[in-house]
Amino acid sequence: MTDTIRSIAHRYPGVPTLEGAGVRLRRSFSNKEVPLFDPFLLLDRFGSSNPADYLAGFPWHPHRGIETVTYVLDGRVAHGDTLGNHGVIGSGDVQWMNSGSGIIHQEMPERTEGAMSGFQLWVNLPSREKMSVPAYRGLSASEIPEVITNDGNRVKVVAGTFGKVEGPVRGIPVDPTYLDVRLPAGGAFEQDVRPEYTAFAHVIDGSGTFAGTDPRPVDSGETALFGTGGSIQVRAADRGLRFLLVSGRPLHEPVAWYGPIVMNRQDELLEAMRELRSGEFVKHRRPVVEE
Ligand code: FE
Repeated sequence: MTDTIRSIAHRYPGVPTLEGAGVRLRRSFSNKEVPLFDPFLLLDRFGSSNPADYLAGFPWHPHRGIETVTYVLDGRVAHGDTLGNHGVIGSGDVQWMNSGSGIIHQEMPERTEGAMSGFQLWVNLPSREKMSVPAYRGLSASEIPEVITNDGNRVKVVAGTFGKVEGPVRGIPVDPTYLDVRLPAGGAFEQDVRPEYTAFAHVIDGSGTFAGTDPRPVDSGETALFGTGGSIQVRAADRGLRFLLVSGRPLHEPVAWYGPIVMNRQDELLEAMRELRSGEFVKHRRPVVEE
């Protein structure tokens, strides 16, 4: 591994956004940031203790050309899709969904006492995989390993590796690492990232200072995109720090994006629209069975 430390290149406070049928969330980055986060396309953080902010949910809608990664921190999100999957994503669970050539699904947060919160990350597919067969992985909290270090750091490994521990999500084209890291007050953490990979951190709670040229702490709700280099190093402030650390191999391919469909060229978007109208959008389907 290279011994250079990555500095923060850009910081994003998150933009209040109304999405789905009326869900209030904060959008950390999206189509305006293309291609800075390549291969990542979008990060939304939802979270509220007021059910009116989330109950409208995300009724039946299509996706093509991407993977959507839903990580529920607190609460429950019911889902169903045209592959016949249906169920509930609960606290600590992850749904890693490859839309491939086309899926239609719904994602409906359920009424929760207290806070409902979580993330959705969109991961781009390489051109050769955009029309692949859709696939779906549901991971319960108990399937996601948590490493507790001698320093009291707690690291959940969804994808990629931390130390010798590998996350359960494997075989993704852009070779992602997806960690949920908790540090005690003053705690230090370091993670090596391949030099050619894109990496960002989103602070869930607390505050911390990342090593490099930007000495300002990154606070709860902020996203830091790292510049080139090797390892990422951070020290938690006295409130402690919880953050997502995500990295992956950039695709360096053109992006044509319309709503929930992300392809390489405009004509592929038009074709997707035509197929949605004609009913040819979903190439692989199983009937949805309601519970
Ligand atoms: Fe969706």
